[in-house]
Amino acid sequence: MNETDVVIIGAGHNGLTCAAYLAMAGLRVAVVERRKVVGGAAVTEEFHPGFRNSVAAYTVSLLNPKIIGDLKLADHGLAIVERRAQNFLPAPDGRYLLTGEGRTQESLARLSPRDAATFEVFSAELEAIADVLRQFVLRAPPNLVEGFGAGAIREAFNALGTANILRSLSLEQQRSLLDLFTRSAGEMLDERFEHDLVKALFGFDAIVGNYASPYAAGSAYVMLHHAFGEVNGKKGVWGHAIGGMGAITTAMARAARGHGVEIETGNGVREVIVERNGAAGVVLDNGATIRAKYVVSGVNPKLLYTRLIAADALPADFLARMKNWRNASGTFRMNVALSALPSFSALPGAGDHLSAGIILAPSLAYMDRAWQDARDHGWSRAPVVEVLIPSTLDDTLAPKGQHVASLFCQHVAPQLPDGASWDVHREEVADLMIATVDAYAPGFAQSVLGRQALTPLDLERDFGLLGGDIFHGALSLNQLFSARPMLGHADYRGPLKGLYHCGSGAHPGGGVTGAPGHNAAGVILRDHRALFG
Ligand SMILES: Cc1cc2nc3c(=O)[nH]c(=O)nc-3n(C[C@H](O)[C@H](O)[C@H](O)COP(=O)(O)OP(=O)(O)OC[C@H]3O[C@@H](n4cnc5c(N)ncnc54)[C@H](O)[C@@H]3O)c2cc1C
Repeated sequence: MNETDVVIIGAGHNGLTCAAYLAMAGLRVAVVERRKVVGGAAVTEEFHPGFRNSVAAYTVSLLNPKIIGDLKLADHGLAIVERRAQNFLPAPDGRYLLTGEGRTQESLARLSPRDAATFEVFSAELEAIADVLRQFVLRAPPNLVEGFGAGAIREAFNALGTANILRSLSLEQQRSLLDLFTRSAGEMLDERFEHDLVKALFGFDAIVGNYASPYAAGSAYVMLHHAFGEVNGKKGVWGHAIGGMGAITTAMARAARGHGVEIETGNGVREVIVERNGAAGVVLDNGATIRAKYVVSGVNPKLLYTRLIAADALPADFLARMKNWRNASGTFRMNVALSALPSFSALPGAGDHLSAGIILAPSLAYMDRAWQDARDHGWSRAPVVEVLIPSTLDDTLAPKGQHVASLFCQHVAPQLPDGASWDVHREEVADLMIATVDAYAPGFAQSVLGRQALTPLDLERDFGLLGGDIFHGALSLNQLFSARPMLGHADYRGPLKGLYHCGSGAHPGGGVTGAPGHNAAGVILRDHRALFG
């Protein structure tokens, strides 16, 4: 294909979502992907003979139910199941916290009766704010525009709509909203709870993909960001896509193709063609060109603007700001093939806790030290590890009787402090992560049959996630909402005519939500109808 209505750069889940919506509305759409497979960070691959797992993203909650319905993802093979328990946090002293329907209160009461009572109050507070966020997820945030044209009028209405949504909150809830957008999770949790494990349960969400201390201002928002999801109608719950995260993007690709979208893999975009201040198509790695009315980017905005578009084609002030777009996740991701299930000292043997997100980080102080250590040393010598064993819920991933686990490890430095390459330290750090799990579940290391380890450098090189940033840009206040990816461009439109953003670098940000793809499609269709009726 060398001419189409829309060309989308990147077949991540957002690119696929956007493609499907545009094709459903009758546009001709091509998606071009640099990797050999579709899905971006939401893929399932065989990482050890006979063992498959979600390679990067590994657990589902944020995927928007409207998108699941509109794209008929269930008809295309997607099935999402709940974890049998939500989270399990063992402590070195043998105590533990186990959360999930019907178990949280009992577990909390054993640790701290005071926290058991506060937990309900805080969860309700978070839930009320998350409910408001849910209303913002599928709409473009108010965009700042200069002048008094049609765009200004449209945005004035958008701002009014936003204000109306916020008015549904009581004054006290609006205060909480401000706290959650600006404060540190650590401070807020210390004010409310007394037990370290309870604080760690919430605090973990504040540092996932966020290279910062839980005491860093703004970390409370990252905690909130992980709370607006749901699984099969149950709010705030996390689950598993049968077949791994690749099942989501396989279903999306099927939906898109079913509506006529052409998807080309193994052939990335080398350059966006710019003519008369507008995006006019793309040049692929193999030299082929695709001309299009609309060029839609699903890649990290800094990657788009500093690598795929000639600098002199962009407004200088825009480019200067984009060069400072902050990409910073301190994550190290492992997949391990296991001969047997781990047995945790705090709760030995099999049980529902093994289907939970198992958080090895017993306190906020531990998380804070992990970040400090990573800054000084390059990686934390006592890292934060979440273990998830999806084969406890899904027998398609490992041979019978054997298992796969995802290890999502924080904190490692995106760039090592002495300038050393992550290629040199990958195996050493992978050994440390295995040893960290083994300290809580003796025998774990011996059960590892094979492993895959992805450093921040691997995430950048293999997936195009600059700085290893899992969200396509830090979720800090200056990069959120009307400022994502930049004030004046929160409406999914880039600084060139015909250029749009549909990836996680646009509102509402990272996570397997499908929301930026959905919202961008709406804006493109509106612009298309304005031009062509
Ligand atoms: C290790 C890790 C763990 C995570 N865990 C979770 C989780 O458990 N749950 C959750 O909800 N979220 C999780 N996330 C976040 C989530 O996966 C991402 O925010 C989301 O998948 C990004 O989707 P996207 O479509 O916006 O972009 P991507 O998935 O990054 O897709 C962009 C696509 O563009 C392609 N591309 C790059 N350059 C080019 C080019 N020049 N030409 C053509 N194509 C190009 C890339 O190969 C990629 O396929 C995780 C992310 C990572 C990395």
